[in-house]
Amino acid sequence: MTTTPYFVPLEEARTICQQTPPVLHVEDVSLDQAHGRILATDLESLVNDPPFDNSSMDGFACRFEPNATYPLTLSVVGVQAASGENITIEVGKGQAARIMTGAPMPSGTDAILPVEQCAVSEDGLTVTLNEAPKPHFVRLKGENIEQGAVGLQKGNRLTPARVGMCATMGHATVPVYAKLKMGIVSTGDELKLPGEALQHGEIYESNSFGLAGLVRWLGHEPVRFQAVSDSLDSLRAALNEASSVCDIILTSGGVSMGEFDYVRRLMEEEGDIHFWRMKIRPGSPPLFGLWNGTPLFGLPGNPVSSHVVFRMLVADYVRTATGADGPKEWTVRAKLCDRVKSTMDCVTLRRVTLEATEEGMMAYQPKHQGSGNLDSLASANGLTMLQPGEVGEIGEWIDVLVL
Ligand code: AMP
Ligand code: MG
Repeated sequence: MTTTPYFVPLEEARTICQQTPPVLHVEDVSLDQAHGRILATDLESLVNDPPFDNSSMDGFACRFEPNATYPLTLSVVGVQAASGENITIEVGKGQAARIMTGAPMPSGTDAILPVEQCAVSEDGLTVTLNEAPKPHFVRLKGENIEQGAVGLQKGNRLTPARVGMCATMGHATVPVYAKLKMGIVSTGDELKLPGEALQHGEIYESNSFGLAGLVRWLGHEPVRFQAVSDSLDSLRAALNEASSVCDIILTSGGVSMGEFDYVRRLMEEEGDIHFWRMKIRPGSPPLFGLWNGTPLFGLPGNPVSSHVVFRMLVADYVRTATGADGPKEWTVRAKLCDRVKSTMDCVTLRRVTLEATEEGMMAYQPKHQGSGNLDSLASANGLTMLQPGEVGEIGEWIDVLVL
């Protein structure tokens, strides 16, 4: 009989989860739906960008003459607009064409002088160039990307600029990973929905709302189930339903040492646990395993802990599965301005407020740090990433994850 890995370091927990990835599907979406999605293939440009030589300035186009002296007066033979009209304008020696930004270069021209450096005669028939026209105001065909070149890569998260790039490359639709349906099942007899009246001993259920936001932040689709009471039967029924409609299940609560911690018990007795407990603080209770073949993260009930475990474990798991390069987790170096108690065996994730100063980032810990104090997270913009044994004294420079 093999024993379940217990109280594992963060990296080991990640590796264990990655060995059981979710099933991925690919779908084509229109560009209107593409923001935040993850590309499922490399994307080649269908065209040259730009597709033709064109002007980066409003001005006059002519041929660059290395031996000419300036000011130089040329006759104006036409106007080249960005629509591509008058594409047949021919510009010869001693001639220039008025040109607009983005307009194709008339034949015979290879340089532009911006309109500010030009003086047009009253009758509009001639233009005097105060200085030499510049070849670098010509944007050359294919200089941004050439037809057939890979402009975006599999795993790229489609940011606004990248969605625009898809269009520039000529793609009306793009292949992306279907959003993973992530079921969220909160557990606890004490949980009530906001809007309902609280009886003594009850609290508002907040984890499923916070976790749903995190799932959306990751670019996937939350499915929030009604909170279940602390009973094996109702939990089993909820997990069966969730596993039939979701790609991944997130539970919250019921994974600690308590008598009513049924998630762990049910997963032990009827599911398949791959590890239980990991070395981060807060957030040490989670488990990972399979329920009916569906990957399941048993997240802690404490609101800060469930959030932190999502960021540390679930986000990494989902990003790794799709090869996604975002949303990116940024860490900065910051100087501790309050003391943070670290431990010898766990990564310590305290909620801090970052402030940019001339000396660098300063990290303050203004709020009481209980793992049940969601305000400490809601008001913070950083999480300390103190490694096991790393000292959290005032004045230490440490890594802080930007929230
Ligand atoms: P548990 O892991 O079930 O023992 O829960 C730990 C703590 O988190 C307890 O104080 C619970 O009341 C609280 N808690 C559990 N689930 C939620 C939830 N969905 N929303 C807010 N607090 C919760
Ligand atoms: Mg509970």
